[in-house]
Amino acid sequence: MEYDEEDFLSIAGLQHFAFCRRQWALAYLEMQWNENLRTAEGHILHENAHDAFSAEKRGDLLISRGMAVFSRKLGVNGVCDVVEFKASPAGIPIFGRDGTWLPVPVEYKRGSPKETDADRLQLCCQAMCLEEMLLCGRIAKAYLYYGETARRTAVPLDDPLREKVTGMLAEMHELYRRNYTPRVKPTKSCNACSLKGLCLPRLYRAGSAAEYTKKRLGELP
Ligand code: SF4
Repeated sequence: MEYDEEDFLSIAGLQHFAFCRRQWALAYLEMQWNENLRTAEGHILHENAHDAFSAEKRGDLLISRGMAVFSRKLGVNGVCDVVEFKASPAGIPIFGRDGTWLPVPVEYKRGSPKETDADRLQLCCQAMCLEEMLLCGRIAKAYLYYGETARRTAVPLDDPLREKVTGMLAEMHELYRRNYTPRVKPTKSCNACSLKGLCLPRLYRAGSAAEYTKKRLGELP
């Protein structure tokens, strides 16, 4: 199956979905993104990484910034902070350049490495888009760069991570098709959530389905 462009979802949404399905739905289905300090800081780091599309050559490395990517199979699109193309006989030709080149995405993040898969999922999805667009074969690893540690970490793009990306995107497309914002149980992660001011009052006000039914039954004469 292939998705039409009008049904493409944002690759960046994967990290939000991994953090909390409801956060993703509020931000991407209901478009209620709440710009706060955390997200603003993230944007600044991203802006430095890709002001606009650009490319430069450093030795046997071509560095492309702000490269737009998409996948019809996954139904996603987005922008890679950086894609490094390394000169390699196993690579692909690039228009206007001699030789062949192997692509490797590098994603920039504020903060330090997370315990969750959120950043790795986004990065893996970018690599899967590049594989489909460039027909470059399997990209074995990619990199995450963290602002707080100022270091890059290699991320193996193995089958379990790829299956997780595919599974999550299938779930996101289903919620998107139904235009449905799921209810979830609040957790301690809510404290760090940039949408808690929008989400929690609504979540608590709504109460559980059981409480609602009980309340309505109690109102019956
Ligand atoms: S406040 Fe909690 S439940 Fe609501 S969107 Fe954020 S993380 Fe999810």
